[in-house]
Amino acid sequence: DLTLVWFRDDLRVSDHAALTAARADGRVIAVWIREVRDDEGLGPRPMGGASRWWAHESLAVLHQELSDLGIPLLFAAGEAAVIIPQLAGSLGVGALRWSRRYAPASRALDSQIKTVLSDQGFVVHSHGGSLLVEPWTAAPQGGDHYKVFTPFWKAVSGREVGDALPTPQPQSPLDPALVESARACTAVTDLDGLGLLDGTGTGSGEFAAARGPRWWQDTIASHWSPGTRAAAAQLEDLAAGIDGYSTTRDVPSDAQSTSRPSPRLRYGELSPRQLLHAARTTTSVTPDDRAAWIRQLYWREFSWHLTYHYPDIDYAPIRSEFRNFPYEDDADALARWRSGTTGYPLVDAGMAQLWETGWMHNRVRMVTASFLTKNLLQHWWCGEQWFWDTLVDADEANNPVSWQWVAGSGADAAPYFRVFNPERQRERFDPDDAYIDDWLPYAPEAAPAPIVGLADSRQAALSAYDHMKNVS
Ligand code: FAD
Repeated sequence: DLTLVWFRDDLRVSDHAALTAARADGRVIAVWIREVRDDEGLGPRPMGGASRWWAHESLAVLHQELSDLGIPLLFAAGEAAVIIPQLAGSLGVGALRWSRRYAPASRALDSQIKTVLSDQGFVVHSHGGSLLVEPWTAAPQGGDHYKVFTPFWKAVSGREVGDALPTPQPQSPLDPALVESARACTAVTDLDGLGLLDGTGTGSGEFAAARGPRWWQDTIASHWSPGTRAAAAQLEDLAAGIDGYSTTRDVPSDAQSTSRPSPRLRYGELSPRQLLHAARTTTSVTPDDRAAWIRQLYWREFSWHLTYHYPDIDYAPIRSEFRNFPYEDDADALARWRSGTTGYPLVDAGMAQLWETGWMHNRVRMVTASFLTKNLLQHWWCGEQWFWDTLVDADEANNPVSWQWVAGSGADAAPYFRVFNPERQRERFDPDDAYIDDWLPYAPEAAPAPIVGLADSRQAALSAYDHMKNVS
């Protein structure tokens, strides 16, 4: 029996329940679709530039990994609701399998496709694997979801997650004529045909204006090795990222102060279960470091829990009174924030690290986000969208949830009056200027004049907050 496995955000071959089950049933053919949203807005959010680069590279490795198992990987571009049924019909598969996704617009699409396929007589199975906690399985007494992290964490962190699944056995080759006819059906013959790299070198934007155009992937590529093989090496060496985590995770200059699996999780090169097991079984870290790290892994779970329960999380504030927040609309302020020319070194260094590497340390993400939304009073959407375009780990849960958290409109947000002071943050977390030295995009003596005063802008933010409370 032939099964079609539809890969999406799960670009791996081990601990892949859909692939394992499909191989247990017989032989497999796989597909990955560069999806566009349909007229109703269903489907995944269109990928940003850095994400497209990562996906392209990661798919090249997956293609090879699957090919080593005798499994052809097809590529397609367009609306999944059209492509998947067509492909299933033309291949004459017995069943379809995929890993579940949890962003509301993707979930809705998947369930629509499932209904269509089932009506056409196909057997469709969706599998877990991208999360440790299925969002609908955790609820407090008297409610259907958690709004605060700690109770969520207490409720779910002790749950069994089961063993990670091994890579399935290779299969005997499929009939080449069948594979060719499927390729003809998708009309995209190879990975390059997806055009994921087209347009990722914008050559525009404020950074390009300030520092000359270039292709994002040229710089990002020197910092990362996408794909399951490099991911497996990272998993082996996870202890290095966990070691010292409880004390140094806020130090942005230290490349190993955090463990950096975020893009692996985003594309599913590693499953959270593989990471959890690796963290639990490594003997070379202290219990405190291990516990602190695992807790953070569950923050990702919590973001998905919220995203599942708040379908509009990427634009609607969870705390609805924030609809009345008097954000300003200042294109110049936004441009200076994006280009790292605010005159505040920690903010500017962070924005440069993001541009150069497609990643920014969490502490600096918080500082830059606070600066944009509070000191500059720009809407968190603007920052969220810039991060969406530039982060290699940009995901539909962690990004909006974290932005809402910093902006104060999130479920479990920090109290509004806690406005990060970028100068004090710099003294605390980068006292020797090691991070600034690495990333500041201008010579210190050529620093731009600060875009706003910190005391005044903090006061303005608090007044804006008071205004919002008064009108709400
Ligand atoms: P580590 O510190 O080594 O942690 C291991 C893993 O735990 C991470 O890979 C991540 O999956 C999870 N994790 C750690 N901290 C957090 C956190 N605060 N919230 C949620 N999960 C966490 N993370 C993304 O994966 N994608 C995003 O698009 C994203 N956008 C963000 C935007 C803002 C404004 C802020 C403040 C944070 C954002 N984060 C995002 C969360 C966090 O910054 C990153 O997950 C983390 O920096 C990734 O680095 P790491 O893999 O070395 O993390």
